[in-house]
Amino acid sequence: MTNVPEIFGCLVFNDTTMKARLPKETYKAMKTAAQIGKRLDINVANVVANAMKDWAVENGATHFTHWFQPMTGITAEKHDSFISPTDDGNVIMEFSGKELVRGEPDASSFPSGGLRATFEARGYTAWDPTSYAFIKDGTLCIPTAFCSYGGEALDKKTPLLRSMEAINRQAMRILKLFGNTEVHSVKTTVGPEQEYFLIDKEVYDKRPDLIYTGRTLFGAKPPKGQELDDHYFGSLKPRVAAFMRDLDEELWKLGIYAKTKHNEVAPAQHELAPIFTTTNIATDHNQLTMEVMKKIAQRHGLVCLLHEKPFAGVNGSGKHNNWSISTGSGVNLLEPGDTPHENAQFLLFLCAVIKAVDEYQDLLRISVASAGNDHRLGANEAPPAIISIFLGDELNDILKAIENDASYDAPEKVQMKIGVHVLPRFPKDTTDRNRTSAFAFTGNKFEFRSLGSSASVAGPNIVLNTAVAESLREFADVLEQADCFTSTLHDLIRDTIRKHKRIIFNGNGYDENNIRELTEGRGLLNLRSTTDCLPYFLHEKNIKLFSRHGVFTESEMRSRYEILLENYSKVIHIEALTMLDMAKRDILPAITAYVKELCESALAKRNFLAAADCSFEEKTVNQLSGLTACIAEKIEALDSALIGVKSVTDILDEAVYYKDRVFTAMNELRAVVDESEVMTSSKYWPYPTYGELLFSVK
Ligand code: ADP
Ligand code: MG
Repeated sequence: MTNVPEIFGCLVFNDTTMKARLPKETYKAMKTAAQIGKRLDINVANVVANAMKDWAVENGATHFTHWFQPMTGITAEKHDSFISPTDDGNVIMEFSGKELVRGEPDASSFPSGGLRATFEARGYTAWDPTSYAFIKDGTLCIPTAFCSYGGEALDKKTPLLRSMEAINRQAMRILKLFGNTEVHSVKTTVGPEQEYFLIDKEVYDKRPDLIYTGRTLFGAKPPKGQELDDHYFGSLKPRVAAFMRDLDEELWKLGIYAKTKHNEVAPAQHELAPIFTTTNIATDHNQLTMEVMKKIAQRHGLVCLLHEKPFAGVNGSGKHNNWSISTGSGVNLLEPGDTPHENAQFLLFLCAVIKAVDEYQDLLRISVASAGNDHRLGANEAPPAIISIFLGDELNDILKAIENDASYDAPEKVQMKIGVHVLPRFPKDTTDRNRTSAFAFTGNKFEFRSLGSSASVAGPNIVLNTAVAESLREFADVLEQADCFTSTLHDLIRDTIRKHKRIIFNGNGYDENNIRELTEGRGLLNLRSTTDCLPYFLHEKNIKLFSRHGVFTESEMRSRYEILLENYSKVIHIEALTMLDMAKRDILPAITAYVKELCESALAKRNFLAAADCSFEEKTVNQLSGLTACIAEKIEALDSALIGVKSVTDILDEAVYYKDRVFTAMNELRAVVDESEVMTSSKYWPYPTYGELLFSVK
């Protein structure tokens, strides 16, 4: 039996370890630096580095790395060993404060979207002391931010930390107005629920599409998919259970609060949810979780697929970003309270979110946009591409009463007067599980459900933190000038509801009529694809938002815009090449070989018995010959679509071209290949089928 409390965090240089291993003064200096985000004095850094190294070496580490999150979507590391030569030809293990706080990886190959001219191609990494160092595979990993020499962010952590500062600043102004003087900081919290697929490594290895692109580019539907709903919360297969046990243990060692695990809707699909924590740490932990999932799967002869849509016709994988605002000491500001005063504060924060989501729908949509996630959003398995807020009936009725200065009638008729009346209690579990809503209030937090499974949660949280900071800033500006706080507050809340209620929608988001009502009726955006939404990123209001709160400069935004578009085009390009390769070199030859066998069989039959019935062979040969001709045609079409890309110069036009021309040609090729698959002898088909992939784990 694993002793969980004993192993929990054993690979983390956490607070307990620091307290035990650092001189009191150093520990204190460390804590202060972490709390107020100050840079460490070099003498302090030297002491910390040395203690860290001793601890890491005792725990089997030989190397260290600055661990950072460049714009590639994965984490990056460059390992240096601790060894340092001595005069007598031996080595000692050394690690200096300088090496701890700052690194200079040769960063010219990371995407920068034109931010770094080549003459200053080197970026630097800077320790983020708010996130603990940890040991992974014998290497001490130091969480760092990654910037250019000009100080421009080249990663996801830097803007996330900036957005947390922004919301801290503005929320503190609000709390002060409510007389909360003992609160010293406000942070946001995140608990990301992570979906994934597990398939057998042996079948995976036979699928070039999975290997190169993470998703199947061909594959006919299996006789059984998810229609029986017999997988959701079903009992775990032994291999899966063993994987999950191992995974939990590994995550606990890294100080990650892995909490729940269960089977998801699709066959071979599962979910892991951690206990929430500070957004910045939750982001690091989610990156680590995804990495560890892949590693542990290998250990069990499995492969963990994090792609948003590995299989057509079967649910894809998402990630639910549970998000709230809390004081430094852990009081949840999105928790309705027991006194009129607490309620008024709750309602104001709630309104800040409603306003933020309405005004920055476009940014939230962009924050979840990727080639992979385009397959999910708007399909009837994930929230629609429309961003709207689900509040649940009770809260909705309360807001309606406030909006109309009317009375709310449960349990008794009360005219809601902010700051005077207590909110009627509304049971948490009626904040229903409306799966069709992109952004749902679930009792004391919001759940943003549009994220794709492979995405870093940094992006959506940068937007959420900043947009809500902006609402709070505007609120504070008004309230700080108010003669009568209570009545100004009342009007502010009522007017915010009136102005932004269009974003609140409690109905079924899959329904065609509702979609029309939301878009044509209320004017909400319905940005279906990555190329539809990305241009909004550079709209004036968005540049203003991010620069006002010091989260992105305009040039940082332009660089991100370019990186996102480029990435989109590259993903589709690789998929197209993979398809062509598979179709030309494996699929066409396989079908042809089968056709030949059928012809030979018919000839042999006739030889044996002149009147033999060869109608099956004839029909199949005829159909398959037609299909192979069609496949060859579609291959040619895809080939020429790819050649056509070369004449497109603008980066947005290029991405649009990939979506409209290349992606369409890919789908056409797939359709004929899938049709051929079901007619071709399994002996000849070069790849494991959907059935074999989805039901591979016994
Ligand atoms: P369920 O959705 O199954 O009812 P919970 O609501 O308890 O479960 O939590 C779902 C996810 O939301 C978990 O990852 C949890 O840690 C996270 N969560 C709960 N409270 C908060 C909060 N205040 N801030 C951020 N995430 C939270
Ligand atoms: Mg959820």
